[in-house]
Amino acid sequence: RWAAATGPRIVLLAEPRSFCAGVERAIEIVEVALERYGPPVYVRKQIVHNLHVVADLSRRGAVFVDELDEVPAGAVTVFSAHGVSPEVRDAADRRGLRVIDATCPLVSKVHAEARRFAAEGRLVALIGHAGHEEAEGTLGETGGAGVLVQTVDDVAALPGDRPVAYLMQTTLAEDEAAEIAAAIRGRFPDARGPKRNDICYATTNRQASVRAIAAESDVVLIVGSANSSNSLRLVEVARHHTPAHLVDDQGGIALDWLAGARTVGLSAGASAPPSLVDDIVSALRGLGPVAVEERVIARETVQFSLPKEALS
Ligand code: SF4
Repeated sequence: RWAAATGPRIVLLAEPRSFCAGVERAIEIVEVALERYGPPVYVRKQIVHNLHVVADLSRRGAVFVDELDEVPAGAVTVFSAHGVSPEVRDAADRRGLRVIDATCPLVSKVHAEARRFAAEGRLVALIGHAGHEEAEGTLGETGGAGVLVQTVDDVAALPGDRPVAYLMQTTLAEDEAAEIAAAIRGRFPDARGPKRNDICYATTNRQASVRAIAAESDVVLIVGSANSSNSLRLVEVARHHTPAHLVDDQGGIALDWLAGARTVGLSAGASAPPSLVDDIVSALRGLGPVAVEERVIARETVQFSLPKEALS
């Protein structure tokens, strides 16, 4: 408990926070598929990287699998928001699966860039994180012409025998990605790339709003799962200013993080449900008086329509 005599603790909410348009669309696709076809609906990988979302959809009849060979032939199968490589699409065709593709349209845009640069005979340097499903899908689109670049040091190891292009995972930290892109352009002055970057609006806005609250907070809590790239980046952004912690939900908060903290910053990654933020505010109220304030750096209006396979 903190002393009421010093006034209410301030909870500073970052806006925008929580679900982006691509995540809302992906979840809705699974919900529509469950309604239309009935359970089970198979989903390749986690539909979005959040354990609460996955647990909720599992309870409603979604079956999450790592690879398509776990799916019975002919079954309804959803591809996750992170996208898949052409090999996965081919494998689904071979098994006669009824595929509904929940790849975020902003990831599909990067896939199209990858195909175009590869068709031009370029080496495609993808700035991203090893093992992330989005990076695997985008590299797959290059048809073997892609190389993952994770650090500035990786740039020196790129082969110099072909013209080069670069792309990015959509959920990177802006400054880190810009630094690596600059290193690529430094070594390959003719390198082609996206107009500005491939980092999506939701990532950009969430990083900017976390920057705004972190500067004013004694501690920052980010709601998100440990495998959520964009949530991890929010923790890193906040840590440039103040201590910050990733939590899946209110149960993950350690009370000693809050000791002496007058202002608690709070945000959530693009894959984390907004209700988890509300739960944390309620839990903080349970510890003593709280005044909630919001720092709004943008109002998001982006919406994506459902793919035709989900509607027909
Ligand atoms: Fe799409 Fe960006 Fe959301 Fe990923 S974080 S699903 S790219 S809008």
